[in-house]
Amino acid sequence: MIRKYKGQCHCKKVTFDFFSKEIVTLLECNCSICLPYRYLHLIIENTKFHLNNDSDQLISYKFRTKVADHLFCKNCGVKSFYKPASHPNSVSINYNSIVNPPKIKEILSFDGKNWDQAVKDLKSDIN
Ligand SMILES: [Zn+2]
Repeated sequence: MIRKYKGQCHCKKVTFDFFSKEIVTLLECNCSICLPYRYLHLIIENTKFHLNNDSDQLISYKFRTKVADHLFCKNCGVKSFYKPASHPNSVSINYNSIVNPPKIKEILSFDGKNWDQAVKDLKSDIN
């Protein structure tokens, strides 16, 4: 069953809605930006995601290939979602930022330290 879920940053200036299955697969990445956060990725297609605030509430940070767009709340600094390089037509939602989170089926490891190989090994449609 597909349901509507809500996510937010700490101060709630960034809020979003998305549609997802009730039981989801998450990715846990060991790269230098995900590991400090213990970021748990829920990959959701762009078309199932709606940002409720203006994008000027977000600060963008890019590095290396500058493909991924890491988005932080301008006010509280929390990264509740971002545009990942690994899934160009999707957003990655931080599972820990979801108000009413779906159940977890499994958490797969993504070897972001070896990103080029890891992205080749990735199943394209995990949810
Ligand atoms: Zn905030």
